[in-house]
Amino acid sequence: MKDKRIISIKDSKLRRIRNEMREVLNCFLEAEWKNAFNNQKRFLYNIDGKRRTIDDMSSEELQHFRMLQQKQNEIRKIGDHSICTCYTCGKPDQDMYYNHPYRAWFCVECANLAKSHHTRIKEKKRHGEYTCDSDDEFSKTFLS
Ligand SMILES: [Zn+2]
Repeated sequence: MKDKRIISIKDSKLRRIRNEMREVLNCFLEAEWKNAFNNQKRFLYNIDGKRRTIDDMSSEELQHFRMLQQKQNEIRKIGDHSICTCYTCGKPDQDMYYNHPYRAWFCVECANLAKSHHTRIKEKKRHGEYTCDSDDEFSKTFLS
């Protein structure tokens, strides 16, 4: 995949189909995440409802509990880096810009905001007004 690319759909019917497909995929990821979350509860509470800690778990229970946490993390990562939502603002219904350094998709509005931020900081630095900005490294990745 190219380092930078915009996936843009102009036709309103195709946009609607795209958005509905994204919604289906996002719902699936959310359901899988909640399923893993709910499965963790049986390790976190006794039959009488008393809260347990990982110190109360057997090694097999702890291993299963950690596997469920890992599954949640993987599901979240898939969702965060998919084209189905903007990595920054979370909008699911926008044309998307792929930023390879982050291996994530950003809506065009957020990508343009990052680009303009870099331009403003660059201009301030040129005039000696600005010396440090942690967001500037992020903004630079949007320049092509
Ligand atoms: Zn966005």
